Amino acid sequence: MSTIPHWIDGARTTGVSSRTSDVFNPATGEVAAQVVLAEQADVDLAVSSSLKAAQSWSESSLSTRSRILFEYRHLLHTHRDELAAIITSEHGKVLSDAAGEVQRGIEVVEFACGIPQLLKGEHSEQVSRGVDAYSLRQPLGVVAGITPFNFPVMVPMWMFPIAIATGNTFVLKPSERDPSASIRLAELFGQAGLPDGVLNVLQGDAFAVNALLDHPDVSAASFVGSTPIARHVYSRGTAAGKRVQALGGAKNHMVVLPDADLDVAADAAVSAGYGSAGERCMAISVVVAVGETGDALVEKIASRTRDLHPSVLPGTDPSAQMGPLVTGVHRDRVRSYVDAGESAGASLVVDGRGYAPEGAENGFWLAPTLFDHVTRDMTIYTDEIFGPVLTVVRADTFEDALELVNANPYGNGTAIYTGDGLAAREYQRRVHVGMVGINVPIPVPMAYYSFGGWKDSLFGDTHVHGAEGVKFYTRAKAVTARWPQQHGVNLGFPTHG
Ligand code: NAD
Repeated sequence: MSTIPHWIDGARTTGVSSRTSDVFNPATGEVAAQVVLAEQADVDLAVSSSLKAAQSWSESSLSTRSRILFEYRHLLHTHRDELAAIITSEHGKVLSDAAGEVQRGIEVVEFACGIPQLLKGEHSEQVSRGVDAYSLRQPLGVVAGITPFNFPVMVPMWMFPIAIATGNTFVLKPSERDPSASIRLAELFGQAGLPDGVLNVLQGDAFAVNALLDHPDVSAASFVGSTPIARHVYSRGTAAGKRVQALGGAKNHMVVLPDADLDVAADAAVSAGYGSAGERCMAISVVVAVGETGDALVEKIASRTRDLHPSVLPGTDPSAQMGPLVTGVHRDRVRSYVDAGESAGASLVVDGRGYAPEGAENGFWLAPTLFDHVTRDMTIYTDEIFGPVLTVVRADTFEDALELVNANPYGNGTAIYTGDGLAAREYQRRVHVGMVGINVPIPVPMAYYSFGGWKDSLFGDTHVHGAEGVKFYTRAKAVTARWPQQHGVNLGFPTHG
Protein backbone atom coordinates (compact mmCIF):
# COMPACT_ATOMS: atom_id res chain seq x y z
CA MET A 1 0.00 0.00 0.00
CA SER A 2 1.57 3.33 -1.02
CA THR A 3 1.66 6.34 1.29
CA ILE A 4 0.88 9.81 -0.02
CA PRO A 5 3.19 12.25 1.77
CA HIS A 6 3.43 15.98 2.37
CA TRP A 7 5.56 18.19 0.14
CA ILE A 8 7.63 20.46 2.33
CA ASP A 9 10.72 22.46 1.40
CA GLY A 10 10.94 20.92 -2.05
CA ALA A 11 10.77 17.28 -0.96
CA ARG A 12 8.31 14.52 -0.18
CA THR A 13 8.12 13.79 3.53
CA THR A 14 5.83 11.83 5.80
CA GLY A 15 6.76 14.14 8.68
CA VAL A 16 5.85 12.97 12.15
CA SER A 17 2.29 12.00 11.22
CA SER A 18 1.10 8.73 12.70
CA ARG A 19 -2.50 9.09 11.54
CA THR A 20 -3.53 8.22 7.98
CA SER A 21 -6.69 8.18 5.91
CA ASP A 22 -7.73 5.77 3.13
CA VAL A 23 -7.71 7.01 -0.45
CA PHE A 24 -9.99 4.96 -2.72
CA ASN A 25 -10.15 4.13 -6.36
CA PRO A 26 -13.85 5.03 -6.74
CA ALA A 27 -14.31 2.87 -9.83
CA THR A 28 -13.29 -0.32 -8.02
CA GLY A 29 -14.12 0.60 -4.45
CA GLU A 30 -10.64 -0.50 -3.39
CA VAL A 31 -8.34 1.36 -1.05
CA ALA A 32 -5.56 2.51 -3.38
CA ALA A 33 -3.30 4.36 -0.93
CA GLN A 34 -3.12 6.01 2.45
CA VAL A 35 -2.54 9.69 2.92
CA VAL A 36 -0.71 10.99 5.96
CA LEU A 37 -2.64 13.38 8.21
CA ALA A 38 -0.63 16.27 9.64
CA GLU A 39 0.05 16.68 13.34
CA GLN A 40 0.95 20.02 14.94
CA ALA A 41 4.67 19.47 14.28
CA ASP A 42 4.00 18.97 10.56
CA VAL A 43 1.94 22.14 10.42
CA ASP A 44 4.72 24.05 12.20
CA LEU A 45 7.32 22.64 9.82
CA ALA A 46 5.35 23.61 6.71
CA VAL A 47 4.57 27.10 7.99
CA SER A 48 8.14 27.79 9.13
CA SER A 49 9.46 26.62 5.75
CA SER A 50 7.01 28.98 4.02
CA LEU A 51 7.86 31.84 6.37
CA LYS A 52 11.57 31.45 5.67
CA ALA A 53 10.97 31.23 1.90
CA ALA A 54 8.78 34.36 2.05
CA GLN A 55 11.77 36.52 3.02
CA SER A 56 13.53 36.05 -0.31
CA TRP A 57 10.52 35.28 -2.49
CA SER A 58 8.82 38.58 -1.61
CA GLU A 59 12.04 40.30 -2.77
CA SER A 60 12.18 38.43 -6.09
CA SER A 61 11.74 40.54 -9.20
CA LEU A 62 8.49 40.52 -11.10
CA SER A 63 10.28 39.24 -14.19
CA THR A 64 11.74 36.31 -12.25
CA ARG A 65 8.26 35.35 -11.01
CA SER A 66 6.78 35.77 -14.46
CA ARG A 67 9.51 33.67 -16.09
CA ILE A 68 8.97 30.80 -13.60
CA LEU A 69 5.21 30.95 -14.21
CA PHE A 70 5.70 30.77 -17.98
CA GLU A 71 7.88 27.68 -17.52
CA TYR A 72 5.32 26.18 -15.13
CA ARG A 73 2.58 26.73 -17.67
CA HIS A 74 4.66 24.86 -20.25
CA LEU A 75 5.28 21.92 -17.87
CA LEU A 76 1.60 21.72 -16.92
CA HIS A 77 0.67 21.47 -20.57
CA THR A 78 3.22 18.74 -21.13
CA HIS A 79 1.92 16.80 -18.11
CA ARG A 80 -1.77 17.47 -18.67
CA ASP A 81 -2.70 13.85 -19.40
CA GLU A 82 -0.69 12.58 -16.46
CA LEU A 83 -2.44 15.02 -14.13
CA ALA A 84 -5.83 14.05 -15.57
CA ALA A 85 -5.06 10.37 -14.91
CA ILE A 86 -4.17 11.14 -11.28
CA ILE A 87 -7.46 13.01 -10.85
CA THR A 88 -9.51 10.17 -12.35
CA SER A 89 -7.77 7.53 -10.25
CA GLU A 90 -8.77 9.20 -6.96
CA HIS A 91 -11.82 11.30 -7.81
CA GLY A 92 -13.47 9.05 -10.39
CA LYS A 93 -14.48 11.66 -12.98
CA VAL A 94 -13.99 10.75 -16.64
CA LEU A 95 -10.59 11.49 -18.16
CA SER A 96 -11.79 14.16 -20.61
CA ASP A 97 -13.49 16.00 -17.75
CA ALA A 98 -10.30 15.75 -15.68
CA ALA A 99 -8.26 17.12 -18.60
CA GLY A 100 -10.73 20.02 -18.85
CA GLU A 101 -10.19 20.74 -15.16
CA VAL A 102 -6.41 20.85 -15.69
CA GLN A 103 -6.95 23.23 -18.61
CA ARG A 104 -9.01 25.63 -16.47
CA GLY A 105 -6.25 25.54 -13.84
CA ILE A 106 -3.61 26.30 -16.46
CA GLU A 107 -5.63 29.36 -17.49
CA VAL A 108 -5.09 30.83 -14.01
CA VAL A 109 -1.34 30.32 -14.43
CA GLU A 110 -1.59 32.11 -17.78
CA PHE A 111 -3.35 34.99 -16.02
CA ALA A 112 -0.67 35.03 -13.31
CA CYS A 113 2.10 35.18 -15.96
CA GLY A 114 0.99 38.79 -16.49
CA ILE A 115 1.73 39.72 -12.88
CA PRO A 116 4.04 42.66 -13.77
CA GLN A 117 1.07 44.25 -15.49
CA LEU A 118 -1.41 43.26 -12.76
CA LEU A 119 0.62 44.76 -9.93
CA LYS A 120 0.98 48.19 -11.48
CA GLY A 121 -0.12 50.81 -8.97
CA GLU A 122 -1.60 54.26 -9.36
CA HIS A 123 0.49 57.42 -9.52
CA SER A 124 -0.49 61.06 -9.25
CA GLU A 125 2.13 63.66 -9.90
CA GLN A 126 2.06 67.04 -8.14
CA VAL A 127 -0.84 66.46 -5.75
CA SER A 128 0.67 69.45 -3.99
CA ARG A 129 3.73 71.50 -4.92
CA GLY A 130 6.67 69.08 -5.09
CA VAL A 131 4.48 66.25 -3.78
CA ASP A 132 3.58 63.02 -5.59
CA ALA A 133 1.17 60.32 -4.41
CA TYR A 134 1.16 56.68 -5.42
CA SER A 135 -0.08 53.28 -4.37
CA LEU A 136 1.67 49.97 -3.89
CA ARG A 137 0.32 46.46 -3.41
CA GLN A 138 2.53 44.23 -1.28
CA PRO A 139 2.37 40.53 -0.38
CA LEU A 140 0.84 39.33 2.89
CA GLY A 141 3.43 36.67 3.80
CA VAL A 142 2.35 33.05 4.29
CA VAL A 143 -1.07 32.19 2.86
CA ALA A 144 -2.95 28.94 3.50
CA GLY A 145 -5.25 27.32 0.93
CA ILE A 146 -7.79 24.69 1.94
CA THR A 147 -9.49 22.89 -0.92
CA PRO A 148 -12.33 20.40 -1.60
CA PHE A 149 -12.26 17.00 -3.27
CA ASN A 150 -14.23 17.85 -6.38
CA PHE A 151 -11.55 19.76 -8.30
CA PRO A 152 -8.22 18.52 -6.93
CA VAL A 153 -6.25 20.45 -9.58
CA MET A 154 -8.39 23.40 -10.62
CA VAL A 155 -9.43 24.74 -7.22
CA PRO A 156 -5.90 24.78 -5.72
CA MET A 157 -4.85 26.51 -8.95
CA TRP A 158 -7.49 29.19 -8.47
CA MET A 159 -5.36 30.17 -5.51
CA PHE A 160 -1.64 29.43 -5.40
CA PRO A 161 -0.49 30.74 -8.82
CA ILE A 162 -1.82 34.20 -7.97
CA ALA A 163 -0.76 34.13 -4.31
CA ILE A 164 2.77 33.18 -5.37
CA ALA A 165 2.90 35.59 -8.31
CA THR A 166 2.06 38.42 -5.92
CA GLY A 167 5.06 37.52 -3.73
CA ASN A 168 3.49 35.33 -1.03
CA THR A 169 4.38 31.79 -0.08
CA PHE A 170 1.63 29.21 0.13
CA VAL A 171 0.71 26.19 2.25
CA LEU A 172 -1.86 24.08 0.42
CA LYS A 173 -4.04 21.71 2.46
CA PRO A 174 -5.81 19.63 -0.21
CA SER A 175 -8.75 17.30 0.33
CA GLU A 176 -7.70 14.08 2.01
CA ARG A 177 -9.95 12.21 -0.44
CA ASP A 178 -7.84 12.92 -3.55
CA PRO A 179 -4.53 14.29 -2.33
CA SER A 180 -2.01 13.05 -4.96
CA ALA A 181 -2.50 15.69 -7.65
CA SER A 182 -1.34 18.48 -5.32
CA ILE A 183 2.01 16.81 -4.81
CA ARG A 184 2.54 16.59 -8.55
CA LEU A 185 1.49 20.22 -9.01
CA ALA A 186 4.08 21.31 -6.42
CA GLU A 187 6.79 19.09 -7.90
CA LEU A 188 6.27 20.54 -11.37
CA PHE A 189 6.36 24.10 -10.01
CA GLY A 190 9.71 23.26 -8.39
CA GLN A 191 10.92 21.89 -11.70
CA ALA A 192 9.93 25.19 -13.30
CA GLY A 193 12.33 26.99 -10.95
CA LEU A 194 10.17 27.84 -7.94
CA PRO A 195 12.41 27.99 -4.85
CA ASP A 196 11.85 25.40 -2.11
CA GLY A 197 9.29 26.38 0.52
CA VAL A 198 7.35 28.83 -1.69
CA LEU A 199 4.68 26.16 -2.26
CA ASN A 200 4.28 23.53 0.44
CA VAL A 201 1.59 20.84 0.48
CA LEU A 202 0.37 19.75 3.88
CA GLN A 203 -1.83 16.65 3.86
CA GLY A 204 -4.43 16.48 6.56
CA ASP A 205 -7.95 16.77 7.86
CA ALA A 206 -9.80 19.19 10.14
CA PHE A 207 -6.88 19.20 12.58
CA ALA A 208 -4.50 20.64 9.96
CA VAL A 209 -7.11 23.18 8.84
CA ASN A 210 -7.66 24.48 12.37
CA ALA A 211 -3.94 24.52 13.13
CA LEU A 212 -3.31 26.63 10.02
CA LEU A 213 -6.15 29.00 10.92
CA ASP A 214 -4.77 29.44 14.44
CA HIS A 215 -1.12 29.70 13.40
CA PRO A 216 0.30 33.15 14.15
CA ASP A 217 2.61 33.04 11.10
CA VAL A 218 -0.21 32.46 8.61
CA SER A 219 -1.54 35.80 7.34
CA ALA A 220 -4.50 34.76 5.22
CA ALA A 221 -6.57 31.77 4.17
CA SER A 222 -8.47 30.90 1.01
CA PHE A 223 -11.04 28.16 1.48
CA VAL A 224 -13.32 26.30 -0.91
CA GLY A 225 -15.66 23.58 0.36
CA SER A 226 -19.09 23.04 1.88
CA THR A 227 -21.04 25.84 3.54
CA PRO A 228 -20.85 24.66 7.18
CA ILE A 229 -17.06 24.33 6.96
CA ALA A 230 -16.72 27.60 5.02
CA ARG A 231 -18.63 29.37 7.80
CA HIS A 232 -16.40 27.76 10.43
CA VAL A 233 -13.19 28.61 8.56
CA TYR A 234 -14.28 32.21 8.07
CA SER A 235 -15.13 32.78 11.72
CA ARG A 236 -12.13 30.94 13.15
CA GLY A 237 -9.67 32.54 10.72
CA THR A 238 -10.97 36.08 11.12
CA ALA A 239 -11.11 35.65 14.92
CA ALA A 240 -7.39 34.88 14.71
CA GLY A 241 -6.90 38.16 12.82
CA LYS A 242 -6.46 36.71 9.35
CA ARG A 243 -7.83 37.78 6.02
CA VAL A 244 -10.18 34.99 4.89
CA GLN A 245 -12.19 34.22 1.77
CA ALA A 246 -14.32 31.09 2.21
CA LEU A 247 -16.35 29.78 -0.70
CA GLY A 248 -19.15 27.42 0.26
CA GLY A 249 -21.72 25.09 -1.24
CA ALA A 250 -24.44 25.63 -3.78
CA LYS A 251 -27.89 24.82 -5.06
CA ASN A 252 -27.88 26.11 -8.61
CA HIS A 253 -31.17 26.76 -10.38
CA MET A 254 -31.71 26.74 -14.13
CA VAL A 255 -34.83 28.65 -15.07
CA VAL A 256 -36.46 27.60 -18.35
CA LEU A 257 -38.93 30.11 -19.77
CA PRO A 258 -41.81 28.99 -22.02
CA ASP A 259 -40.22 30.49 -25.14
CA ALA A 260 -36.96 28.52 -24.72
CA ASP A 261 -35.88 25.87 -27.21
CA LEU A 262 -36.70 22.84 -25.04
CA ASP A 263 -34.20 20.52 -26.74
CA VAL A 264 -31.40 22.98 -26.10
CA ALA A 265 -32.57 23.45 -22.50
CA ALA A 266 -32.86 19.69 -21.90
CA ASP A 267 -29.35 19.09 -23.30
CA ALA A 268 -28.01 21.80 -21.01
CA ALA A 269 -29.83 20.57 -17.90
CA VAL A 270 -28.58 17.01 -18.37
CA SER A 271 -24.99 18.08 -19.14
CA ALA A 272 -24.83 20.48 -16.21
CA GLY A 273 -26.72 18.22 -13.81
CA TYR A 274 -24.85 14.97 -14.31
CA GLY A 275 -21.40 16.04 -15.54
CA SER A 276 -18.76 14.91 -13.04
CA ALA A 277 -21.56 12.96 -11.32
CA GLY A 278 -23.07 16.24 -10.11
CA GLU A 279 -20.01 16.81 -7.93
CA ARG A 280 -19.45 20.34 -9.18
CA CYS A 281 -20.20 23.45 -7.18
CA MET A 282 -21.62 24.91 -10.39
CA ALA A 283 -23.67 21.83 -11.29
CA ILE A 284 -27.33 22.50 -11.99
CA SER A 285 -29.36 20.73 -9.33
CA VAL A 286 -32.74 22.43 -9.76
CA VAL A 287 -34.54 23.00 -13.06
CA VAL A 288 -37.31 25.56 -12.70
CA ALA A 289 -39.84 24.87 -15.43
CA VAL A 290 -41.91 27.99 -16.00
CA GLY A 291 -45.49 27.96 -17.25
CA GLU A 292 -46.56 25.33 -19.73
CA THR A 293 -42.97 24.10 -20.43
CA GLY A 294 -43.11 21.55 -17.57
CA ASP A 295 -44.37 18.27 -19.04
CA ALA A 296 -42.56 18.54 -22.38
CA LEU A 297 -39.32 19.63 -20.76
CA VAL A 298 -39.37 16.83 -18.16
CA GLU A 299 -40.01 14.28 -20.91
CA LYS A 300 -37.00 15.51 -22.89
CA ILE A 301 -34.75 15.55 -19.81
CA ALA A 302 -35.96 12.09 -18.79
CA SER A 303 -35.19 10.45 -22.13
CA ARG A 304 -31.69 11.95 -22.17
CA THR A 305 -31.15 10.87 -18.55
CA ARG A 306 -32.14 7.26 -19.31
CA ASP A 307 -29.88 7.27 -22.38
CA LEU A 308 -26.94 8.16 -20.16
CA HIS A 309 -27.18 5.13 -17.89
CA PRO A 310 -25.15 2.71 -20.05
CA SER A 311 -22.31 5.24 -20.28
CA VAL A 312 -21.91 5.47 -16.50
CA LEU A 313 -18.58 3.66 -16.44
CA PRO A 314 -15.11 3.84 -14.92
CA GLY A 315 -13.61 7.22 -15.83
CA THR A 316 -10.80 5.58 -17.76
CA ASP A 317 -13.25 3.89 -20.17
CA PRO A 318 -13.22 5.84 -23.47
CA SER A 319 -17.02 5.58 -23.73
CA ALA A 320 -17.67 6.81 -20.18
CA GLN A 321 -19.79 9.96 -19.88
CA MET A 322 -20.06 9.84 -16.11
CA GLY A 323 -17.94 8.07 -13.51
CA PRO A 324 -18.58 6.88 -9.95
CA LEU A 325 -19.00 9.07 -6.88
CA VAL A 326 -15.92 9.88 -4.86
CA THR A 327 -16.40 7.53 -1.90
CA GLY A 328 -18.84 4.91 -0.69
CA VAL A 329 -19.85 7.13 2.21
CA HIS A 330 -20.69 9.98 -0.15
CA ARG A 331 -22.57 7.68 -2.56
CA ASP A 332 -24.66 6.34 0.34
CA ARG A 333 -25.44 9.88 1.47
CA VAL A 334 -26.58 10.88 -2.02
CA ARG A 335 -28.65 7.69 -2.30
CA SER A 336 -30.32 8.48 1.01
CA TYR A 337 -31.54 11.77 -0.52
CA VAL A 338 -33.13 9.80 -3.35
CA ASP A 339 -34.90 7.63 -0.75
CA ALA A 340 -36.01 10.77 1.09
CA GLY A 341 -37.31 12.44 -2.08
CA GLU A 342 -39.36 9.37 -2.90
CA SER A 343 -40.80 9.20 0.63
CA ALA A 344 -41.60 12.91 0.55
CA GLY A 345 -43.82 12.41 -2.49
CA ALA A 346 -41.75 13.84 -5.35
CA SER A 347 -42.21 11.99 -8.67
CA LEU A 348 -39.19 9.80 -9.27
CA VAL A 349 -39.02 9.92 -13.07
CA VAL A 350 -35.65 8.20 -13.52
CA ASP A 351 -34.17 6.10 -10.71
CA GLY A 352 -30.39 5.61 -10.73
CA ARG A 353 -30.21 3.42 -7.64
CA GLY A 354 -28.99 -0.14 -7.98
CA TYR A 355 -26.96 0.54 -11.10
CA ALA A 356 -23.39 -0.80 -11.49
CA PRO A 357 -21.41 -1.37 -14.67
CA GLU A 358 -20.49 -4.95 -15.42
CA GLY A 359 -17.14 -5.98 -13.97
CA ALA A 360 -16.93 -2.99 -11.62
CA GLU A 361 -19.73 -3.82 -9.20
CA ASN A 362 -17.83 -2.68 -6.11
CA GLY A 363 -17.35 0.89 -7.34
CA PHE A 364 -19.26 3.81 -5.84
CA TRP A 365 -22.04 3.95 -8.42
CA LEU A 366 -25.25 5.85 -8.64
CA ALA A 367 -26.69 6.50 -12.09
CA PRO A 368 -28.37 9.80 -13.08
CA THR A 369 -31.63 10.29 -11.21
CA LEU A 370 -34.48 12.67 -12.01
CA PHE A 371 -37.27 13.97 -9.80
CA ASP A 372 -40.27 16.03 -10.93
CA HIS A 373 -42.86 17.97 -8.90
CA VAL A 374 -40.32 18.79 -6.21
CA THR A 375 -41.46 21.32 -3.64
CA ARG A 376 -39.42 23.76 -1.63
CA ASP A 377 -39.94 21.97 1.70
CA MET A 378 -38.37 18.66 0.54
CA THR A 379 -34.77 17.90 1.55
CA ILE A 380 -33.94 17.12 -2.07
CA TYR A 381 -34.67 20.82 -2.67
CA THR A 382 -33.36 22.41 0.53
CA ASP A 383 -30.03 20.55 0.82
CA GLU A 384 -26.98 20.46 -1.39
CA ILE A 385 -26.92 16.81 -2.51
CA PHE A 386 -23.71 17.00 -4.56
CA GLY A 387 -24.50 13.97 -6.68
CA PRO A 388 -26.21 13.01 -9.97
CA VAL A 389 -29.70 13.97 -8.82
CA LEU A 390 -31.62 16.54 -10.82
CA THR A 391 -34.84 17.99 -9.44
CA VAL A 392 -37.57 19.83 -11.34
CA VAL A 393 -39.67 22.47 -9.60
CA ARG A 394 -42.66 23.93 -11.42
CA ALA A 395 -43.28 27.69 -11.39
CA ASP A 396 -46.24 29.51 -12.87
CA THR A 397 -44.49 32.70 -13.94
CA PHE A 398 -41.11 34.36 -14.38
CA GLU A 399 -41.70 36.29 -11.14
CA ASP A 400 -42.42 33.06 -9.23
CA ALA A 401 -39.21 31.51 -10.59
CA LEU A 402 -37.16 34.56 -9.63
CA GLU A 403 -38.68 34.61 -6.15
CA LEU A 404 -37.79 30.93 -5.67
CA VAL A 405 -34.16 31.45 -6.67
CA ASN A 406 -33.80 34.56 -4.53
CA ALA A 407 -35.38 32.90 -1.49
CA ASN A 408 -32.77 30.11 -1.59
CA PRO A 409 -29.98 30.62 0.94
CA TYR A 410 -27.31 29.65 -1.61
CA GLY A 411 -26.24 32.03 -4.36
CA ASN A 412 -23.39 30.45 -6.29
CA GLY A 413 -24.50 30.02 -9.89
CA THR A 414 -27.72 30.15 -11.92
CA ALA A 415 -28.79 29.99 -15.54
CA ILE A 416 -31.75 31.16 -17.56
CA TYR A 417 -32.85 29.61 -20.83
CA THR A 418 -34.87 31.89 -23.08
CA GLY A 419 -34.89 33.59 -26.45
CA ASP A 420 -36.24 36.77 -24.85
CA GLY A 421 -33.41 39.25 -24.30
CA LEU A 422 -35.48 41.48 -22.07
CA ALA A 423 -36.42 38.62 -19.73
CA ALA A 424 -32.78 37.53 -19.60
CA ARG A 425 -31.72 41.07 -18.77
CA GLU A 426 -34.32 41.33 -15.99
CA TYR A 427 -33.14 38.03 -14.56
CA GLN A 428 -29.47 38.97 -14.67
CA ARG A 429 -30.22 42.28 -12.95
CA ARG A 430 -32.55 41.07 -10.21
CA VAL A 431 -31.23 37.63 -9.27
CA HIS A 432 -29.27 37.35 -5.99
CA VAL A 433 -26.60 35.02 -7.27
CA GLY A 434 -22.90 35.63 -7.92
CA MET A 435 -22.52 33.97 -11.33
CA VAL A 436 -25.23 34.08 -13.98
CA GLY A 437 -25.49 32.18 -17.25
CA ILE A 438 -27.74 33.32 -20.09
CA ASN A 439 -28.29 30.22 -22.22
CA VAL A 440 -25.06 28.95 -20.59
CA PRO A 441 -25.68 26.28 -17.94
CA ILE A 442 -22.37 26.43 -16.05
CA PRO A 443 -21.23 30.05 -16.11
CA VAL A 444 -17.76 29.59 -14.60
CA PRO A 445 -15.91 32.88 -15.12
CA MET A 446 -12.68 32.89 -17.09
CA ALA A 447 -9.43 33.18 -15.11
CA TYR A 448 -9.23 36.94 -15.79
CA TYR A 449 -12.65 37.46 -14.19
CA SER A 450 -13.31 36.44 -10.59
CA PHE A 451 -15.24 33.42 -9.29
CA GLY A 452 -17.53 33.61 -6.31
CA GLY A 453 -21.08 33.27 -5.08
CA TRP A 454 -23.35 35.34 -2.89
CA LYS A 455 -25.17 34.60 0.38
CA ASP A 456 -24.25 31.22 1.96
CA SER A 457 -22.02 30.40 -0.99
CA LEU A 458 -19.27 32.80 0.08
CA PHE A 459 -18.07 34.21 3.38
CA GLY A 460 -15.77 37.21 3.04
CA ASP A 461 -15.87 39.89 0.42
CA THR A 462 -13.43 38.94 -2.30
CA HIS A 463 -13.97 36.36 -4.99
CA VAL A 464 -11.15 34.11 -6.25
CA HIS A 465 -8.73 34.64 -9.17
CA GLY A 466 -8.87 37.52 -11.63
CA ALA A 467 -8.43 41.04 -10.29
CA GLU A 468 -10.07 40.13 -6.96
CA GLY A 469 -7.52 37.36 -6.45
CA VAL A 470 -4.69 39.83 -6.89
CA LYS A 471 -6.40 42.12 -4.41
CA PHE A 472 -6.99 39.37 -1.85
CA TYR A 473 -3.34 38.27 -1.80
CA THR A 474 -1.91 41.80 -1.48
CA ARG A 475 -2.38 44.73 0.83
CA ALA A 476 -2.43 48.29 -0.29
CA LYS A 477 -0.06 51.04 0.72
CA ALA A 478 -0.50 54.67 -0.21
CA VAL A 479 2.66 56.77 -0.38
CA THR A 480 2.91 60.55 -0.32
CA ALA A 481 6.40 61.82 -1.22
CA ARG A 482 7.86 65.31 -1.23
CA TRP A 483 10.97 66.29 -3.15
CA PRO A 484 12.73 68.51 -2.27
CA GLN A 485 12.35 68.22 1.51
CA GLN A 486 10.70 71.18 3.24
CA HIS A 487 11.93 73.21 6.20
CA GLY A 488 9.73 74.79 8.87
CA VAL A 489 7.38 73.60 11.65
CA ASN A 490 3.69 73.65 10.72
CA LEU A 491 1.07 72.22 13.10
CA GLY A 492 -1.81 72.75 10.68
CA PHE A 493 -3.67 69.87 9.05
CA PRO A 494 -1.95 69.04 5.73
CA THR A 495 -3.88 70.34 2.74
CA HIS A 496 -2.77 70.77 -0.80
CA GLY A 497 -1.80 73.98 -2.40
P1 NAD B 1 -15.69 19.84 2.71
O1 NAD B 1 -16.23 21.11 3.24
O2 NAD B 1 -16.06 18.57 3.36
O3 NAD B 1 -14.08 19.88 2.74
C1 NAD B 1 -13.36 20.99 2.24
C2 NAD B 1 -12.04 21.08 2.99
O4 NAD B 1 -12.31 21.34 4.37
C3 NAD B 1 -11.20 19.82 2.92
O5 NAD B 1 -9.85 20.17 2.71
C4 NAD B 1 -11.42 19.17 4.28
O6 NAD B 1 -10.29 18.45 4.73
C5 NAD B 1 -11.67 20.35 5.19
N1 NAD B 1 -12.58 20.04 6.31
C6 NAD B 1 -13.56 19.10 6.32
N2 NAD B 1 -14.19 19.11 7.51
C7 NAD B 1 -13.61 20.07 8.25
C8 NAD B 1 -13.83 20.55 9.58
N3 NAD B 1 -14.78 20.05 10.36
N4 NAD B 1 -13.04 21.55 10.04
C9 NAD B 1 -12.09 22.07 9.25
N5 NAD B 1 -11.82 21.66 7.99
C10 NAD B 1 -12.58 20.67 7.49
O7 NAD B 1 -16.05 19.83 1.14
P2 NAD B 1 -15.85 18.64 0.10
O8 NAD B 1 -16.85 17.58 0.39
O9 NAD B 1 -14.42 18.27 -0.01
O10 NAD B 1 -16.24 19.39 -1.24
C11 NAD B 1 -17.55 19.54 -1.71
C12 NAD B 1 -18.13 20.86 -1.27
O11 NAD B 1 -17.33 21.93 -1.77
C13 NAD B 1 -19.52 21.10 -1.83
O12 NAD B 1 -20.30 21.68 -0.83
C14 NAD B 1 -19.28 22.08 -2.97
O13 NAD B 1 -20.37 22.89 -3.32
C15 NAD B 1 -18.17 22.89 -2.41
N6 NAD B 1 -17.44 23.58 -3.46
C16 NAD B 1 -17.65 24.91 -3.58
C17 NAD B 1 -17.01 25.61 -4.58
C18 NAD B 1 -17.22 27.07 -4.75
O14 NAD B 1 -16.52 27.66 -5.53
N7 NAD B 1 -18.14 27.69 -4.06
C19 NAD B 1 -16.12 24.94 -5.45
C20 NAD B 1 -15.93 23.57 -5.28
C21 NAD B 1 -16.59 22.90 -4.26
